[in-house]
Amino acid sequence: MSRTTMLPEKFLHEVWAQQLFHTSYLESHEGNRVSILDPGKPNPDTGPDFLYAKIQIGDTLYAGDVEIHRTLDDWSAHLHQNDPRYNKVILHVVMHTGMRESETTTASGRRIPTLILDRFLIEPVRAVWQKSIKGERTRRLDHIACFGKNKPVDTVLKIKWIDTLGARRMELKIRAMRNRLNELASPDNFDLREPAARYGEVHFQGNIDEIPPPVRLPSAHDLRRKDAWEQLLFESIAEALGYSKNQLPFRRLSALVTFPRLREISAGAREAFLFSMAGLLEDTSGDPYRNELRRIVQEEKIKIKQSPMDATEWQFFRLRPQNFPTLRIAALSRITGKMIEKPVLEWLLTTMKDPGLSPQEKIKQIRKYFDIPADGYWKQHYTFGKKAARGLTRLIGKSRVDEITINVIVPYLFLYARTYKDIDLRSDTEDIFNALPAPADNTITRKIDRELILNNKIKPNAQIYQGKIQLYKFYCRDERCGECEVGKMVFG
Ligand code: SF4
Repeated sequence: MSRTTMLPEKFLHEVWAQQLFHTSYLESHEGNRVSILDPGKPNPDTGPDFLYAKIQIGDTLYAGDVEIHRTLDDWSAHLHQNDPRYNKVILHVVMHTGMRESETTTASGRRIPTLILDRFLIEPVRAVWQKSIKGERTRRLDHIACFGKNKPVDTVLKIKWIDTLGARRMELKIRAMRNRLNELASPDNFDLREPAARYGEVHFQGNIDEIPPPVRLPSAHDLRRKDAWEQLLFESIAEALGYSKNQLPFRRLSALVTFPRLREISAGAREAFLFSMAGLLEDTSGDPYRNELRRIVQEEKIKIKQSPMDATEWQFFRLRPQNFPTLRIAALSRITGKMIEKPVLEWLLTTMKDPGLSPQEKIKQIRKYFDIPADGYWKQHYTFGKKAARGLTRLIGKSRVDEITINVIVPYLFLYARTYKDIDLRSDTEDIFNALPAPADNTITRKIDRELILNNKIKPNAQIYQGKIQLYKFYCRDERCGECEVGKMVFG
């Protein structure tokens, strides 16, 4: 067995993640200059090893995925050349050339540039291996930088800081929505439908902030287009339903099908249309309900104007069956029905501005709106052809509805109030945000509670919950302690 075949792929991932090679001058196997602007995020699921990387190769900036192997011919040995999940790979990284020089191509026939790492390693492979093991161990044992030192800092200061960060996180959500509204409301872009340049090739102009290329901003009049607001809400809800592993495919699906198009389609055919555009009706293995949905699409003569998605874009791996995208698409079709039958924008504004309702009662109304009982086939199935062990009662759980309220409804209302200069709506939305309970704790919030010694000292509302996540993701993880109010006290 050669020494290369002994290298664990996990080690190669560490080399890439930690960039344990000379990054200032890299050249692809094809002879082009390579600059890594972002190595991407490790993918814990099936498919390419790193997602959403940004790499300049020659004069072109690519955004997409990275696949890592020991040698060049591992690509074909793993049959990636036939697998559409690898169609977005922009760079094939290998440690050595290997025995055979084989080409790296996608199922769509595109040639992928390759980077052979061994020429660029900072130290011999063995030393790099030891370093990567040490790096991984340190990260596992890692505490936040002020752990063990922050006890003397006043708890009131810590809470105030976290509260401020919660408000900042909400502001970031509002801005992200405003950017999408700009795309949707601009007459130049409205028919584009899909968000601008999420992946693929874009010409590099020397500044990462210039991507995607500037578009003409919509006028104040454009920003009041009702269809743009409805589509924005529809896309945002769809994306929230995809949390956490199918956000991107849900975003694609909602931009492909569009809310105005779903309104044109008869109520009984919306679910079939959504599944068809999601690429999930292709399998003809005989499940009667899937066949029924396929028949509806054909009989209703629904015109498919754009290519459907590929079934492989959806992630089922390592997901609890209750979170399967099939159940969530079924939920989206029912939510869309409600949004059409009870015009959503009017309903939302009337309910939120109703002086007779307390913030808690308004939250109850939102929960009721998004409460989707399981029905028909989806009472017994998590996905096509697979019966659930126990019957289902709801298509979305209560905690998901609360997440939709925090991450979609509240920022959407703030943006609406800002655009229409509606001070009353802004104040009503603030009241709702303050009254929203925090979702269940997760690894990050528990870590902050424990290591910042906050246990049981903060009233658990949604803003504080958001603040803890913001603190960890934007400050602790990047060790930006000098900009943190706690850090200023601890490290002076
Ligand atoms: S950013 Fe603040 S809270 Fe986080 S580790 Fe540094 S000092 Fe502590």
